[in-house]
Amino acid sequence: MSDTALPNPSHAELLRVAAGLRLPDRVFIDGDWSASDNGALIETSNPATGAVLSTLAHCGQKDVDRAVAAARWSFRSGAWSRCAPEKRKEALLKLAALIRRDGVRLAVMESLESGKPIRDCLREITQEVPAIFQWYGELVDKSYGHVAPTGQEDCAMVVREPIGVVAAVLPWNFPLLMATWKLAPALASGCSVIVKPAEETSLTALSLAALAIEAGIPAGVLNVLTGPGETTGRLIGQHPDIDSVSFTGSTDVGRLFLQYAGSSNLKTVGLEMGGKSPFIVLDDADLTEDLIDNAVMAAFWNGGQNCSANMRQLVARSRQDAYVEKIIARTKQIVIGDPLNPATDMGPLISAGQRNRVLSYVAKGVEEGARRVLDAGGAPVGRGHYLGPTVFADLRPEMTIAREEIFGPVLGVLPVDSMDQALQIANGTDYGLHATVYTRDLDRAMYFARRLECGTVAVNGFTEGDIKTPFGGYRRSGSLARDKGLEAMAQYQQIKTIWLRLSAMGLNA
Ligand code: NAD
Repeated sequence: MSDTALPNPSHAELLRVAAGLRLPDRVFIDGDWSASDNGALIETSNPATGAVLSTLAHCGQKDVDRAVAAARWSFRSGAWSRCAPEKRKEALLKLAALIRRDGVRLAVMESLESGKPIRDCLREITQEVPAIFQWYGELVDKSYGHVAPTGQEDCAMVVREPIGVVAAVLPWNFPLLMATWKLAPALASGCSVIVKPAEETSLTALSLAALAIEAGIPAGVLNVLTGPGETTGRLIGQHPDIDSVSFTGSTDVGRLFLQYAGSSNLKTVGLEMGGKSPFIVLDDADLTEDLIDNAVMAAFWNGGQNCSANMRQLVARSRQDAYVEKIIARTKQIVIGDPLNPATDMGPLISAGQRNRVLSYVAKGVEEGARRVLDAGGAPVGRGHYLGPTVFADLRPEMTIAREEIFGPVLGVLPVDSMDQALQIANGTDYGLHATVYTRDLDRAMYFARRLECGTVAVNGFTEGDIKTPFGGYRRSGSLARDKGLEAMAQYQQIKTIWLRLSAMGLNA
C-alpha cells in the first residue's frame, strides 16, 4: 500500500543503530517526560538475549489520574478536538513524515524489544505505520455529516463529534502497528488519547508520543502510560473520566474491560481479541509453491504470535500426506536467529512464559494423539526465548490444540472428508476472526466466504487486508468495533442530531 522503498540496511549497520539508541525510560504525560509518581519501575528486556533494555515507570493511580486530567483538559480546550480539519490533517501528515524520517531507528528499537525480525519491523514501521497516519489524516477534511429528510419547517443535521478521552490498550505482538490502528482514527476524529502499551513492548509507543509533539499535536492529546495490565491497565479500565477504551489483546482480558466499564462509568469498549482461524484447502486447489508459502506464513508469521494465525489447516484426507510433506519441506527453510539480522525469518517468542505455554500445548497435542511430524527444532540455544516450529498431522476438532489459541509456532493439519465437513469444523470454534480458503472455483470461494462466521475471509492468499478494509472479529474474537478502514472511525465518534425548528424562527410566516 506504500510506494516508499523498504530500507535495506545491513546487519552491521543495524547493530550500529542499536548501539547508538537512546531508549525512553519515563512516561509521556501532557507533552512531557516524567517519572511515575510513586517511583515504581518495571523492566523491559530483549527476548533474544534476556538483557534488560530499559527501566520504565510502573504507573499507579496518581499517574493515571494525571494523564486523564491532561487528556480531558486538552479535549475541552478544543485545541485539537475543535480545530479546523485542515490543521489536524496537516499534523497527522507531518507525523507520518517524521515516522518515515526515524523509521529505521524505531524499527530497530521494536525488533530489540519484541524479538520480531527486523525485516518485518522495517516494513511495518517505515511503510505501514506512516501510510496509516497519512490515510486517516487525509480523511479528516473529507468526512461529512448529513442532513435528514424533513419538511421545510425543520432542518435536521446528523453530525459526528469526537467521543472524548480514549484509552488504547495494546498487545505486544505488533506494538507500533496496533498503536497506529487505534491512534490514527482516534486522533483524526479529534479525541485525546492515553496509550497503554503491553508491558513487554512500550518503547516505540513512547517514542511516537514525542514525535507527535514535534508534528504539532498539542500537549495532552497523546499520552503514554507504561505498566503491567493488572495495575495500570485495570486503573485505566476503571477510570470514571475515560469515555472509551479500544482494547486489543486476549479474550480473557477483553472480558475484564467489559466488567471494568460496567462497574465504573459505562465507558464504551471496543474489543479486538484472539482467534483460532482455519486455512481451508479445497480439493480442486493445486498444492502450488504459492499455496504452501501462504500456508506456512499463515501459521508461522511473527512466530505464530498473531491473532489471525491460521493454525488449523483443513485439507482433504486423501491429500493430507502430500500436503504435510510440502509443509515440512517449506518450514525447514525458515531461518531462525538474531532478529536484527535481515536474513532472519523468525526470532524468539516474547517471553519465557509464552515459550512454556506453547510447549505445554505441544505436549498436550502429543498426549491427545495428534501426530507430530516436525519437532520444534532449529532454534539457537542460549538465553533467548527461542522455539522452532512444530507441525502436527491428524488433528481432530475436539483436541485442545484444535480449539484453544496457542499463539506460537504450531501448525496442525486436520484431515476432512467433505466440503460441508470443512465448513462445519471451520465454524466450530468460539472464535471468529479470520479464515483463508484456497480453491480455483469462484462459486465455491463465495459459498465459503459467505458462510464462514468470521470478520475477514481471504481467498487464494493469506492476508488481513490493508488499511482500507476493516478488521475485527465475530463471537469471542471481538465486539462490533472494527480497527482499520472507514469503519474504525465509529469507535471514536459520537453521533449528534441537531434539529432546527425553522417555523419557530418565524421564517415560514
Ligand atoms: P493480553 O490480553 O495479556 O494483554 C493485552 C493488554 O491488556 C496489555 O496492554 C496488558 O498489559 C493489558 N492487560 C493484561 N491484563 C490486564 C488486566 N487484568 N486488566 C487490564 N489490562 C490488562 O494480550 P497479549 O498477551 O498482550 O496479546 C496476545 C493476545 O492479543 C492474543 O490473544 C491475540 O490473539 C490478541 N491479539 C488480537 C488482535 C486483533 O486484532 N484481534 C491483534 C493482536 C493480538
